[in-house]
Amino acid sequence: MSFSDLGLMPELLRAVSEKGYDTPTPIQSQAIPAVLAGRDVLAGAQTGTGKTAGFVLPILQRLSAETAGGSAPRALVLTPTRELAAQVAESARDYGKYVRLRTYQVFGGVSLNPQISALRSGCDILVATPGRLLDLAQQRALDLSKIQVLVLDEADRMLDMGFIPDIRRIIKLLPSRRQNLLFSATYSNDIRGLAEKLLRDPLSIQVAPRNAPIELVEQRAYRVPQEHKRHLLVHLIQENHWPQVLIFTRTKHGANRLTQQLEGAGIRAAAIHGNKSQAARVKALDMFKRGEITALVATEVAARGLDIKELPQVVNYELPNVPEDYVHRIGRTGRAGAAGEAVSLVSADENGLLRDIERVLKCSVPMLPTPEFKILPTVATASTRDGHGGGQGHRPQHGGSSGNRAGERRGSYRTPAHGANRGGGQQRDRSR
Ligand code: AMP
Repeated sequence: MSFSDLGLMPELLRAVSEKGYDTPTPIQSQAIPAVLAGRDVLAGAQTGTGKTAGFVLPILQRLSAETAGGSAPRALVLTPTRELAAQVAESARDYGKYVRLRTYQVFGGVSLNPQISALRSGCDILVATPGRLLDLAQQRALDLSKIQVLVLDEADRMLDMGFIPDIRRIIKLLPSRRQNLLFSATYSNDIRGLAEKLLRDPLSIQVAPRNAPIELVEQRAYRVPQEHKRHLLVHLIQENHWPQVLIFTRTKHGANRLTQQLEGAGIRAAAIHGNKSQAARVKALDMFKRGEITALVATEVAARGLDIKELPQVVNYELPNVPEDYVHRIGRTGRAGAAGEAVSLVSADENGLLRDIERVLKCSVPMLPTPEFKILPTVATASTRDGHGGGQGHRPQHGGSSGNRAGERRGSYRTPAHGANRGGGQQRDRSR
């Protein structure tokens, strides 16, 4: 099957071939003809499956087939995060470079006024996070009466993030006759309920079982006490010469702290999470994509939907509380057929989480012997000095500075058999 078999117009085929795609992915070969035919679609597909082109291409085609009457958007894509909104809009502009349609994205965290004026000048496809969309609608800066297609992208995540009331409010502002597309990586009862209310006679597409991409990802885990994780991580990055690694931490504070610690060990790193300004997040992502930084440290929500091509390496610095999040995280690697590697650093208190993950995966994550690694000297970061952390732009100083606690010396750590023993009488890292 080729893209031209799907009924796409030459302008779109040209853009697709310039992107270097020759074969549609399964979600694309099923969704594109259905969306072109005007059907509602319920698609079980996660990031990495090519879902974005699966809805963007047919929407571009449908909208370009008719003459635009005015400046109001005709397609609305709702996404849970700003990053995903920016990426979907970028895809729409990319795939739509030979059709005369305008795509615009709106999300919170940046000022409202430029968005109001941009909307006034008109757009055909609007990609938005729900909160900001409602703000704009309430300010009467947005005419939603011409919307013909509504897409809920990563609907499960929007649900998790509590966006359902917002989505209901938005739907009330839309014309009742419209096409609806719902994309979700997982199917909970809530998603099923939403789909039943929203969709009319939908085509259901399940491109792959939820955990299919996992087959493309080589997984392994190491046992390591929480307080030694950062040392092991530095060792792994340096020993393996990882050029690009996405690291997941559980908290924003943890992401900031680890970023500083990595920088202190000479590894270029940046954090990406909800407390960072949009500009800082975009900058960090750009630097990561360009290879100017090695490590991108992210929280779950911030990392959702990040489209980083051929990401070879993901590290679970802390295991997620929700096993499905593990699947999403490691799905960041091995995208579109490329092989990836996911490493989890598992402390003793995370054994239960690992068991839950393995239950969802229906297989075990290989636990490898922890390599020997150096205990690095404590770095005086903002967090070790004043207990707050996150001082932006702060360059950590090396150990021995006035704020350095507990005079930690350089040492090395070898995991005792199976690593159950926390530190085994070895030198302790007390920088946490
Ligand atoms: P998505 O699931 O939409 O986030 O897309 C995942 C990645 O796959 C993106 O980097 C796309 O550029 C890429 N992609 C989408 N469709 C194809 C295709 N047919 N062939 C190869 N790569 C693709």
